[in-house]
Amino acid sequence: MSATRRVSIFGATGSIGQNTIDLIRRDPHAYEVVALTGGRNVGRLAADAAELGAEIAVTCHDEELPALRAALAGSGVEAASGDAAMIEAASRPADWVMSAIVGAAGLAPGLKALETGATLALANKESMVCAGPLMLAAAKRHGGTILPVDSEHSAVFQALLGEDISAVERVIITASGGAFRDWPLEKLATATPEEAATHPNWDMGQRITIDSASMFNKALELIETKEFFRIAPDRIETVVHPESLIHALVGFTDGALMAHVGPPDMRHAIGFALHHPHRKPLPVQRLDLAAIGQLTFRPADETRWPALRLAREVMVAGGLSGAIFNAAKERALDAFIARRIGFLQMTDVVAETLDRLSAEVGLNDAVIDLDTVMQADHLARKAADEIIGHQGADLWTS
Ligand code: NAD
Ligand code: MG
Repeated sequence: MSATRRVSIFGATGSIGQNTIDLIRRDPHAYEVVALTGGRNVGRLAADAAELGAEIAVTCHDEELPALRAALAGSGVEAASGDAAMIEAASRPADWVMSAIVGAAGLAPGLKALETGATLALANKESMVCAGPLMLAAAKRHGGTILPVDSEHSAVFQALLGEDISAVERVIITASGGAFRDWPLEKLATATPEEAATHPNWDMGQRITIDSASMFNKALELIETKEFFRIAPDRIETVVHPESLIHALVGFTDGALMAHVGPPDMRHAIGFALHHPHRKPLPVQRLDLAAIGQLTFRPADETRWPALRLAREVMVAGGLSGAIFNAAKERALDAFIARRIGFLQMTDVVAETLDRLSAEVGLNDAVIDLDTVMQADHLARKAADEIIGHQGADLWTS
């Protein structure tokens, strides 16, 4: 094995973070762990940091620092907390960094890692949705690389290897359809957070699982596709594929479709990014196509999933509308989880926030830098909270 690689994992305690650690743990001598970050699960964070011999472990919550310190006592791992510590950890030189914080909170640490010239394995799709041009420019300016970890975007990336991007006619992002794929439309209004937080095929964090049921996850992914691969919105499609085995397809000008097929296991996309530009054996299931029998597809109906329609509007508008869309979605999701609004109202909140803020002068054509993105994010959260306050229905207590 060649020299060890310095790696950091942001969002190490989450679903993607733990899958990343699973791969690193299988070959511990190949890696030197720099920083691990997490939230309230400081027990898990400290145990992993001590086991992997990390330089530093950071929790985003200041009030968790004493517990993190106590859990790391005698381990030789530094403990820190808060946003500034997160950025300081991200500025420490590393060869490969996993960006797996959930939400817009992942943007600043990922951007900082790119500014060190690191390779950024990007699970945090929100970074691309909120600030795609900023991320690509930072990678270019500092000689870094961004590798997609979202399974669909890893699939597109792999289908494009060795291809000429100008020969791409369309990109098709598949969608499982989430928890409510087969529910009658009239039942959706009363769907609960618990019902939305189950996924037919993938085992993921709570927020992305609910976003899969509402298709906000797919909406984010369509925008991510446009930003990542610089593909025109009208060339980006989605189709419901209940088996979740084909992750994406790329269509070329000669009519050929290149599909990426694999089991629904994020260690594939994570491992691909970890070993890129090489391929190494990964501990994922090998598909038995004869046993699977058939792969099925259905249209992604924008009446059932209006989030997809909003994604199209955002892709066309560009500018800061991605940041507004994402922030409003995060607040609507918080309100749904807290049972303050119903499942279908999440889309109403996001649509109304977009309407309100797109009328604000300059927002859609402002220069995109971290400040303007964070300002748009802040304004959108405020507007969304106001709209949620007006909606205010409590669907479950009566
Ligand atoms: P998760 O909820 O399981 O984990 C999130 C991680 O982020 C945790 O370590 C948590 O402590 C940390 N975190 C949460 N809020 C934070 C904040 N404000 N500041 C700093 N850290 C914070 O989420 P996940 O499912 O692992 O998803 C992580 C990211 O990867 C998301 O952007 C998601 O869309 C994307 N993604 C996930 C999957 C998947 O299979 N889980 C697949 C594709 C993409
Ligand atoms: Mg995905």
